[in-house]
Amino acid sequence: MARGTHCWYNGKILPVEEAKISLFTHALHYGTGAFEGIRAYKNATGGAVFRLQEHMERFEESGKILGLKLNFDNAQLVQAVVDACKANKFEECYVRPILFIGDGPLGVNPGAEPPVDIAVLCWEWGSYLGDAGAGAKMKISSFVRPHVNSSMTKGKISGQYVNSVLAKREAIAGGFDEAILLDAEGYVTEGSGENLFIVKNGIIKTTPLNSILNGITRQTVMTYLKAEGHNVIESRFTRDELWCADEAFLSGTAAEITPIREIDLRLIGKGATAGKPGPITQKVQKDYAAIVRGQKTPEYARGWLTAIK
Ligand code: PMP
Repeated sequence: MARGTHCWYNGKILPVEEAKISLFTHALHYGTGAFEGIRAYKNATGGAVFRLQEHMERFEESGKILGLKLNFDNAQLVQAVVDACKANKFEECYVRPILFIGDGPLGVNPGAEPPVDIAVLCWEWGSYLGDAGAGAKMKISSFVRPHVNSSMTKGKISGQYVNSVLAKREAIAGGFDEAILLDAEGYVTEGSGENLFIVKNGIIKTTPLNSILNGITRQTVMTYLKAEGHNVIESRFTRDELWCADEAFLSGTAAEITPIREIDLRLIGKGATAGKPGPITQKVQKDYAAIVRGQKTPEYARGWLTAIK
């Protein structure tokens, strides 16, 4: 996992050792930052960032949710990501833009116009769920997704990720690959860093946007499935409906499309193929891998790749 030697920091490309922050940084104390997770892939003509525009729009919305004024507009933020990839000579990498309230008033109230710092880091990152990429072993978490008015899940707000970190560590310590969190009413929401899809009798369901992140991979998968003639329903479902699915898979920038092998020690699917990725999961996984690398560009995917040049 090679880290980039350079980063973009408040408008400049710097060696990472020179991009320092103060211990008085508000976000370090209260989690008042927000980030993005983006991937760039190598294609026939070089590296390209997948759905960069949409990621940076969500980044700006995270800032809006936090009530912050960013000193850079969408075009500058898009360019910052390209410049950071270029500075590291990466054609294929994971990109992490982060904005945060910097060094200023240290009370919970950071003031009316707090200082906002923005950085873009890159590193080489293989399959997020490692060997589990072939089929993840999942556990319903003892941690619950906070109520919709406690946690603003349309933003990737740094402090909110403590909930994901606790769930993920609990799952790993218990011998699982990843956690699935329920909401306060007991319905399924998403993984600690991925959205969730199930297939039953040909019907595809994903959890509604209420208390989940509006994942860009989720949007990609829904657009793809609809274009392929499938019906995708956004509806709440329970943990036992999940157990009894014919297929289940995770979607996310880091995890890409990861089939789910088992949940709470119950294999997904029936008979001889139980625990194996099902036909729809395999098709989505294969076509997603082709679309992000520009090997397949359906009409709806035009403009989804931004060349690193
Ligand atoms: N849910 C959560 C909680 C996440 O952190 C992520 C990763 N960003 C996702 C879903 C998937 O979102 P995306 O497809 O935009 O990466």
